[in-house]
Amino acid sequence: MWPRPSAQTVRRLLLLAAAYIATGWLGLQVPYSGSHITLVWLPTGIAVAALVGWGWRIWPGVFAGAALVNLSMGSPVLLSAAIAVGNTLGPMLTMVCLRSTAFQSTFKRQRDVGIFIACTALGMTVSSAMGVLCLTMWGVMAPVAMPLGWLSWWMGDTVGVLLAAPLLLTLNRYAISKLRGDRLTLLLWLAVAMPVAWLVFLRDAPQIGQTQPLAYLTLPLLAWAALRLGPTGAALAGLGFSLVAAWGTSTGHGVFHQSDMHASLFLLWSYMATTMLTGLLITALLAERRQVEKTLRASEQRLRTILETEPDCVKIIDHQGNVLEMNAIGLTMLEADSVQAVQAHGLINFVEPRDRAAFSTLHQRVMQGANATLAFQVKGLRGTLRWLETHAAPMRDANGAITMLLSITRDITERRHTEENLRIAASAFEAQVGIMVTDPQGVILRVNQRFALDSGYTAEEAVGQTPRLLKSGRHDDAFYTAMWTALRHEGSWQGEIWDRRKNGEIYPKWMTITAVRGDDGVLSQYVSTQMDITERKTAEDEIRHLAFYDPLTLLPNRRLLQDRLSLAIAGKARSARLGALLFIDLDNFKMLNDTLGHDRGDLLLQEVALRLSTCVREGDTVARLGGDEFVVMLDDLGLDVTAAATGAETVGEKILATLSHPYLLAGHGHHSTSSIGITLFGHRDASQEDLLRQADLAMYQAKAAGRNTLRFFDPAMQTAVNRRAELETELRQALVAGQIIAHFQAQVDGVGRITGAETLARWQHPQRGLVPPDEFIPLAEDTGLILPLGRTMLETACSQLVVWSRLPSYAHLTLAVNVSPRQLRQDDFVPQVLDMLDRTGADPSRLKLELTESLLMDNVEACIAKMAALRARGVGFALDDFGTGYSSLSYLKRLPLEKLKIDRSFVKDVLNDAAIVRTVMALAQSLGLSVIAEGVETEMQRQFLVNQGCQAFQGYLFSRPVPLADFEQLLK
Ligand code: C2E
Ligand code: CA
Ligand code: CA
Repeated sequence: MWPRPSAQTVRRLLLLAAAYIATGWLGLQVPYSGSHITLVWLPTGIAVAALVGWGWRIWPGVFAGAALVNLSMGSPVLLSAAIAVGNTLGPMLTMVCLRSTAFQSTFKRQRDVGIFIACTALGMTVSSAMGVLCLTMWGVMAPVAMPLGWLSWWMGDTVGVLLAAPLLLTLNRYAISKLRGDRLTLLLWLAVAMPVAWLVFLRDAPQIGQTQPLAYLTLPLLAWAALRLGPTGAALAGLGFSLVAAWGTSTGHGVFHQSDMHASLFLLWSYMATTMLTGLLITALLAERRQVEKTLRASEQRLRTILETEPDCVKIIDHQGNVLEMNAIGLTMLEADSVQAVQAHGLINFVEPRDRAAFSTLHQRVMQGANATLAFQVKGLRGTLRWLETHAAPMRDANGAITMLLSITRDITERRHTEENLRIAASAFEAQVGIMVTDPQGVILRVNQRFALDSGYTAEEAVGQTPRLLKSGRHDDAFYTAMWTALRHEGSWQGEIWDRRKNGEIYPKWMTITAVRGDDGVLSQYVSTQMDITERKTAEDEIRHLAFYDPLTLLPNRRLLQDRLSLAIAGKARSARLGALLFIDLDNFKMLNDTLGHDRGDLLLQEVALRLSTCVREGDTVARLGGDEFVVMLDDLGLDVTAAATGAETVGEKILATLSHPYLLAGHGHHSTSSIGITLFGHRDASQEDLLRQADLAMYQAKAAGRNTLRFFDPAMQTAVNRRAELETELRQALVAGQIIAHFQAQVDGVGRITGAETLARWQHPQRGLVPPDEFIPLAEDTGLILPLGRTMLETACSQLVVWSRLPSYAHLTLAVNVSPRQLRQDDFVPQVLDMLDRTGADPSRLKLELTESLLMDNVEACIAKMAALRARGVGFALDDFGTGYSSLSYLKRLPLEKLKIDRSFVKDVLNDAAIVRTVMALAQSLGLSVIAEGVETEMQRQFLVNQGCQAFQGYLFSRPVPLADFEQLLK
């Protein structure tokens, strides 16, 4: 079933058939030797164009047209149909061939022209063969005429296609409008072409066969049409000339008219074919070239667009260094309006003189084939300096020879500035102050060299940590809170802060912290600069030193003394401990100064300062008030006023003695004495001014008393001190005079039997009678007289033991001797005792030494050693006043003790202190020590102690300390 053809198809079919018939009829008007074969069969060209343009379905139009033309010529129906079949198959074959070779009907490529001719020639063999075969079969053509008939038919058809198809195929709306646009050319062409056509094809040749070269006249015209009017123009021109030539030749005119009809026919055909072919080829060549040009132009346009929009300068330089091309950016960099301006100035002259040599070297190297890069500075025509960086590469011609240089140059001025700034920032970062950068959370991001130097932490150690790493512990939370508040509200903080170095050292630094915010206002970092101000602090200390110290002697000055005195007064008010102020004035200093000069005077003051410092303990203050006035402040003299006064006096005496030693001043011997005024403080209200005045006053009294002496401000104190001094003298004499004697106090066992006695010192004073030890033992301790005293007591005891050892009823008795701390501290204490035992011949096991806890406290090891040495010889040790000290159990354990002596204060209150007594008993038991209770005055106390397991007693209940005779009486 055939699909119903569309109206357009029907129109096309009708149009094709009509055109076929019309041109066929026209062609028949130019018959060839009266046969059925026509000179030029244009309908085939129309058929080919229609089939190529509209598709194979249009074939019925071709068939119908061909059949009708043949019928109209009076051919029988069957013959007409058969010829029509050939006439249809020929163009169909051409069409199929063309389609299979990707033929383009625009004839814009040479290959299209070639293909077109080849396919046409092939297709026409079919139609011509069919036609000639049919004519012969129907008897219209003699078989002998077949070859020539076929060739004629084939040529007619082929030329017909060549003439008609290109025109029809290229004739479109665009071609028509182009022709219309070139109307003038067309008219001009026609004006020239028509006489030429007449001259060549219609004029009778004067001599047949001689004028054929005239046909060449049409070739320039053909070329003109092809070049100016395109394929349609060429086709039209070719067709026009061909038709006129065919007309002229067939009517016996023109250059192709020959006497031999065949010869003229072949001349005509070759002319027509050549003309058409030439026309088509010229237009194809032209189109191809145009296409190439268009492509080239487009690519050049693209390149140019790239170059002009390229942000870098692109330029091409020749061998001599001249700029051939440069894009707009390049011109801007050089501040030139045109490439010509650059050429005129000379490229090298833009380059700063310093960089010219390098620039030339770059040029040479690239011209030798290298790629190279260079940064250099140029000065534009308007004088602007820029940093440029260029990458240059050689450009080669088709033969590979280097002819030019292509360079791409970038303006790096900005980058250079940035780099410069970075360099500056970097060197600033490595400045002489420590810098630490942290993130908003306080994590250290960066530190500089100086920071590492100051803190001792390397960058690697610090980064990733927080500033807590440096915390010294010197600041409280409030300090850090204030810092953060300032940072939050003001964006910065600065102040002095103490940090800890890696080596643990604490050092002061001046720190500035700044919160850094980005463009968006968001906190990005904290930057802190920190200056180690240890040195500044030291300098400050020095300044302070100048403010508070006497530059000559380097002693504290009046100001510092006043400060310390105020502090001490305040401290005393709390602790009730006493201090003393000693005002020291050199005797006759003014005279020395006036006679020997200030230099000598200064030397003396310096020496005095040195000597004063040796007279006091650490914690005491030696100050110079000015001139020859010095003040010594003694800080800790205990709680007792008399003892404090004594202590102060002792120091005063020491100072007097020290300062009175001869001086050697710049090689000269000098003698000087001083006067001292003393006042105590801490026991009653007095300001530091009062105290200084009191001491000053006392010093004047010392001067008045004849210099080289000391005086107390308080008369009572003065008396006490005086008395002590007298007492000391007396005691010294008493020892020599044998006024220090021993009394004996019995020691009894559980059943009341006397086991021995404690010897207690008594002073048999010629005026005052028997003086108790309380009044002279402390003095003896202070003055060192306790040593001879102790020796006397020990000797008395040993001698007594020897006496007793010879009497059977006394031989068992022991004697306890009190040993003062100062005695035991003597290096030769052990040999002393042993020597005593040896000399007297006393039994060491009868000798019991009583030590107090306090005595044992200092230098335990030495005590233990000494005790152990004596113990080894049999001497026994008792711990006196046990319970009043602070001995620990572990410490007691180590002492080679025999006995604990429960202090009489516990015994006195035995009922209240029952727990203590019990504890002591238990303790002694656990240590394997025996216990003796002293100060037993009542039977009740004794009974209680017995109940607690105590087996030894001493006290008024049994006997008071009594002279030897009385004690011996007691034994009886
Ligand atoms: P002390 O070693 O604790 O001697 C015991 C003291 O208690 C003696 O006082 C003695 O008279 C007193 N006493 C004894 N029984 C009783 C009593 O039942 N009731 C009361 N209320 N007192 C009693 P004295 O003789 O006055 O000796 C005082 C301190 O003087 C001694 O205490 C001792 O520390 C020291 N002392 C005495 N003689 C010497 C000595 O020759 N050398 C040393 N270094 N110190 C001695
Ligand atoms: Ca004692
Ligand atoms: Ca005692």
